[in-house]
Amino acid sequence: MLWDYIFVGGGLSASVVSSRLHHLDPALKILVIEAGGNANNDPSVVYPNSTNLIGGEYDWKYQTIPQVNLDNRQVDLPCGKALGGGTVINSGGWIRGDKFDFDLWGDTVGDHRWSYAGLLPYMKLTETAPAPVKNPDEHGTDGPMLIQSIESTHREFPLRNKTLESWQEVGVHPLPNNDGNAGNPLGIGDLFENKNQGRREIADNVFKLTGITVLTETLVSKVLLSTPKSHNQAPEATGVQLANGTKIQGKEIILAAGAIRTAQLLMLSGIGPSDELHKFKIPVVLNQPEVGKNFADHGLFGALWALKDPSAGYAIGSANPLFNEPQYGYGTPADFLVSTGITDKAGLAAAIEKDEGKKPDPKKHPLLKQDRTFNEHVFQYAGTPDGSAVTFALINLLPTSKGSVTLKSANINDVPNIDPNYHATEVDKFVAREGIRLQIAFANSNRTVIGRDIIAGELGAPGFNETFTTASTDAYIDARIAAGLGSTFHPMGTAAMGKVVDTNLKVKGINKLRVVDTSVFPVVITAHLQVATYATAYQAADIIYNSLKCSTK
Ligand SMILES: Cc1cc2nc3c(=O)[nH]c(=O)nc-3n(C[C@H](O)[C@H](O)[C@H](O)COP(=O)(O)OP(=O)(O)OC[C@H]3O[C@@H](n4cnc5c(N)ncnc54)[C@H](O)[C@@H]3O)c2cc1C
Repeated sequence: MLWDYIFVGGGLSASVVSSRLHHLDPALKILVIEAGGNANNDPSVVYPNSTNLIGGEYDWKYQTIPQVNLDNRQVDLPCGKALGGGTVINSGGWIRGDKFDFDLWGDTVGDHRWSYAGLLPYMKLTETAPAPVKNPDEHGTDGPMLIQSIESTHREFPLRNKTLESWQEVGVHPLPNNDGNAGNPLGIGDLFENKNQGRREIADNVFKLTGITVLTETLVSKVLLSTPKSHNQAPEATGVQLANGTKIQGKEIILAAGAIRTAQLLMLSGIGPSDELHKFKIPVVLNQPEVGKNFADHGLFGALWALKDPSAGYAIGSANPLFNEPQYGYGTPADFLVSTGITDKAGLAAAIEKDEGKKPDPKKHPLLKQDRTFNEHVFQYAGTPDGSAVTFALINLLPTSKGSVTLKSANINDVPNIDPNYHATEVDKFVAREGIRLQIAFANSNRTVIGRDIIAGELGAPGFNETFTTASTDAYIDARIAAGLGSTFHPMGTAAMGKVVDTNLKVKGINKLRVVDTSVFPVVITAHLQVATYATAYQAADIIYNSLKCSTK
């Protein structure tokens, strides 16, 4: 059998691209090969309050190498291992991000299909936004992915108004229509989730794989590449080899194994930095130094804040009967996603100067010339099982540190070295500190109603004998972050567009091989990655189909 398309990995991106290709031409012979199983009907992941997510059977349970800027800790980096990939275990935050990033992406690669305007049609095609849709120019109303909001699920958290008021008291204001998913997330937006009344929407349940041949529990070990007959020809992908040695032939191979495994598979196939390949005696088909580089992930820091009066029933776990109603289990117990830039521009400029060795020009530097989305704050009405505390999550959305994925061996069964290189830059440390200071001002100062009336204080962390207060020093905040920062589970950038793949997602220098997953993001997307990944994959299907049509004309 010669397949028209073989997908390596059956995660989010592969589900969308293969499903769309089948829709566009049902005669295509498409094979999807997924290392994990099929969780689509597993109640332990599909229904609310699942405990079978991170750390469960559908998680690869990766760990980073020791992070030198985080007390040499190895950080857990879960990734989905099942049809649907990350969507089987993810948190369901439906967060579009900042128009600026997509425009930067389009400019960086010189192709405006990847700008915000280029991707917006696909973002809209993917979703059915929760009714009432206040700005239809920005939102889809009949896409396959159903989006829920706090309003559409009839959750009325007791602290909503005070939370809203407190954000404004520290200078953060609601976005028009409270919509952070309309290209400008800087401000207060309502939390959106891709859940249907709490039910998980797994990518391949939404973009159905009917008509597509699917192999689960099957690990691909490399791409098979032909040796070119002459010097001016490029090597060509002809199939894949499974970990058990079986070879499967295809006319075109699409790597969609996620930012960690796609980079590994490229290298195991002989496409990567030649010095890295030589270390493991892998024959070099293409010296491509950028494979595995440009790796970024968003750091996540959580802190627990004790309530002054736990009996008031503000948090899940308390005796408040409201929380026994089923809708309170439908999603993250938070009203808002709050995205912020940096107000202390002089401090940011000083951090940039330390990293780059020269004073940045505020009119030209990409981090200074306009407001960027640096931090996200999620004030969650849950913290401890007894409902006596709430959680403040800080997500550093615009890391300037770059990490890498490198090989540990020539064996696909060995997880590669995963190095997000968190907080390697002064900018990242400065931005995280600013985020924590804003959260302290919100939760623990006289400036806000939450600080005055609701929260008693921060609960601290093991090994520290002080807690976050308005008097916390930079050194203390840095130490807490080094001890506690984790991953937001958003690996990206390891086969960056413009460097490793071209704007048609073809691996440069190799014929018949593409990459479609978060590896291709050439710039950091300042959002949780689902929305950008769905849109990228949706557009990729059109690009692949159009190139097929052109080649058969
Ligand atoms: C715990 C968690 C929480 C998250 N929360 C959110 C959130 O709230 N909002 C949001 O927007 N994003 C979230 N994300 C991120 C989002 O789910 C991912 O960015 C997205 O799934 C990436 O899509 P992808 O197609 O690049 O890769 P994936 O969806 O990861 O798919 C890759 C697939 O390839 C398979 N594979 C890998 N190697 C091989 C191989 N050698 N052979 C065969 N198959 C292979 C994997 O098993 C996997 O199924 C979260 C992710 C995780 C893990």
